[in-house]
Amino acid sequence: MRLEKDMKLRERAAKVIPNGMYGHQNVSLIAPGTPQFFTRAEGAYLWDVDGNRYVDYMCGYGPQLLGYCHPEIDRAYCEQLSRIDVATGPTPLMVELAEKWTELVTHADWAMFCKNGTDATTMALMTARAYRGRKKILIATGAYHGATTWCTPFPDGTVPEDRAHIIHYEYNNVESLEKAAEEAGDDLAGIFASPFKHDVLTDQQLPDPAYAKRARALCDEKDALLIVDEIRAGLRIARDASWSLMGVEPDLTSWGKSLANGHPISALLGSEKAKAAAGKIYATGSFWFAGAAMAASLVTLKILQETDYLERMIGLGTRLRTGLGEIGQRRSISIRQTGPEQMPLIMLADDQGNLDMQRGFAFCSGLMEKGVYFHPWHNMFISAAMTDKDIDMTLEAADRVLADMSVDA
Ligand code: PMP
Repeated sequence: MRLEKDMKLRERAAKVIPNGMYGHQNVSLIAPGTPQFFTRAEGAYLWDVDGNRYVDYMCGYGPQLLGYCHPEIDRAYCEQLSRIDVATGPTPLMVELAEKWTELVTHADWAMFCKNGTDATTMALMTARAYRGRKKILIATGAYHGATTWCTPFPDGTVPEDRAHIIHYEYNNVESLEKAAEEAGDDLAGIFASPFKHDVLTDQQLPDPAYAKRARALCDEKDALLIVDEIRAGLRIARDASWSLMGVEPDLTSWGKSLANGHPISALLGSEKAKAAAGKIYATGSFWFAGAAMAASLVTLKILQETDYLERMIGLGTRLRTGLGEIGQRRSISIRQTGPEQMPLIMLADDQGNLDMQRGFAFCSGLMEKGVYFHPWHNMFISAAMTDKDIDMTLEAADRVLADMSVDA
């Protein structure tokens, strides 16, 4: 059996871990035949606990940008670990890293480092409220900004008061954004936006420049802060904040996941205007100042600036999109490919909006058997460690799986 050890581990896990696994990493929510546990990762590949190898299109849900176990980045991490990591205070690397990130990201004049994406989005929310002492925060319906009380997508364990001052608007809809801002009146603290609409279970949408510009203008008119949550898409769209491609500069950006190619570090970057407010909020964490992930982030940054990693990822994503489009047409199967080529969401036929997606699950289960890790309802991630060969192997596998599915249909 392909997942024999995995199944045994899941049985043990169910006894000592709630639901056997928490969060969206619980594979019972995705295609049957998806392994839960892994023992090795290198470059673009993952090996499950049973020794099966996969070309990994999830990249750890984002952190892996340049390849798992990147030799140069991991060397910097390990060397720093052997000198000093978590300690009574930070290392000089913290200052250097803040200098380097603020050089790379146009809108940023300062940086605060933390560990998880949720740390950074929560600090962004608090900074926006501290800025003019206001309460209302605008968030796009369905957007994910983390897993704590003000933003978790699931209500269990929260109370309505946790989000009493959050007003929702429709992404890319200027009218709805204006209506939400009007509702906030003179109590508007900030507007949250994702670089593109990358909600789960639904087609992705690239940002309409008119929406991005209106969000900027509304914040200027009302002296509120514009926050772009770069945690998932950051560094995969641009070597700068993602909206810089449209000429829109936010006041705050939250970063995480790929900042150090998988080593644990996240950040809140901000403009001069927001610096005093960021200095007012109480922000700290036992592991936030650890040196090793900062050393890894410095090397990651250098590689981002010196290589064509981004152009290669876009090229690979385009090859995948074109190839799948051709296969779908040839096999008369409708494949919806949305989002940027390097962060595609791929859904079959009418699958949309809920987990009842027989065809999408069948497609991903089939690919899994053939050594390709695809996700049925979350955007995926192309890695700079992938090659044309990996894409070609994926397309071959997809063609065979879809051929079997059209026979079954
Ligand atoms: N914002 C976005 C857009 C994310 O994708 C995520 C993580 N999936 C977060 C915030 C939260 O990050 P973390 O899980 O590291 O707390």
